[in-house]
Amino acid sequence: MTEKKKIEKVIILGAGPAGSSAALYAARAELSPLVFTGIQPGGQVSLTHTIENYPGFPDGVGGADLGTLFQRQAEKFGARFEFESVVSVDFKQQPFLVKTYGAQYIANSVIIATGASPVLLNVPGESEFVGSGVSYCATCDGWFFKEKKVVVVGGGDSALEEALFLTRYVSEVWLVHRRDEFRAGAILQKRVHDNPKIKLILNNVVKSINGEGTVKSVTIQNVKTSKNEDLTVDGIFIFIGHKPNNDLYKGQIDIDERGFIVVNNKMETNIPGVYAAGEASDSEFKQVVTSAGMGAAAAIEASRYLEK
Ligand code: NAP
Repeated sequence: MTEKKKIEKVIILGAGPAGSSAALYAARAELSPLVFTGIQPGGQVSLTHTIENYPGFPDGVGGADLGTLFQRQAEKFGARFEFESVVSVDFKQQPFLVKTYGAQYIANSVIIATGASPVLLNVPGESEFVGSGVSYCATCDGWFFKEKKVVVVGGGDSALEEALFLTRYVSEVWLVHRRDEFRAGAILQKRVHDNPKIKLILNNVVKSINGEGTVKSVTIQNVKTSKNEDLTVDGIFIFIGHKPNNDLYKGQIDIDERGFIVVNNKMETNIPGVYAAGEASDSEFKQVVTSAGMGAAAAIEASRYLEK
């Protein structure tokens, strides 16, 4: 049975860089924000081994460490973090209704910062072997592939960064990308080219993931010749982009055709009092630093809204 809770000034959904920065700014504005972390406190950043492009850390900072520092800093000023997932929201009534598994809350303003999740390849064998050779997180699973061979799929920053990280453990990485040019930044491309453990397989797509109990091979197809080839590997790491986690808000706020929440430059959604920040609404930048900035902006605007 869910009980009605007191009115909150600000409820923040998500505790990645956007949610935690919103919490910091809202806390310092004396709004005592309540943050629901969801199942991944710290967000995607906490699954990244090292962040090298967040200002203030010239030697890089561990992703999980950064997530923890974000939370600690916000808590210092009075933000409350709860390890809870939100199951529904109602933005038609005001104040807004936010329900978790165990309780319901009412809020004068809401900041959505629920981030994004990995895109799936959707090929035979992918769902069957998740956790048994199929992974979306090198930091979490790389250790299990010591001295083994793996495929990494994708051509963006994530794929190249994670392929490089995996070379700490594995004997060989086959980096499979569907084009002959990478989307990733120049520094990562150079590091990949210079790494003897990484072999590039360009103009190829994954057709199936095969095995028995665990992954034994990956079938790839050359997009130019249509020729199939089986790569004998022990695992496959998939980094082909992210999709925003916005299913909860469909029909409640404006969401564009790609699934991003529509916001203006003040992080306002089409519902006054509801803001969105970070990868839930950002189709362009998707960096830790930009998400943090958007979270701060959302909290500043929420504070101004509540003052009115
Ligand atoms: P991304 O930049 O969208 O790259 C996705 C990659 O996967 C692209 O190379 C794409 O190929 C490929 N791909 C997409 N769908 C595919 C499919 N069905 N089959 C095969 N390949 C497919 O995604 P991301 O690498 O996760 O990065 C997301 C954002 O986070 C980016 O803005 C990135 O800059 C940022 N990021 C930054 C850092 C950093 O700064 N250190 C680290 C990680 C991520 P095409 O190139 O052909 O489209």
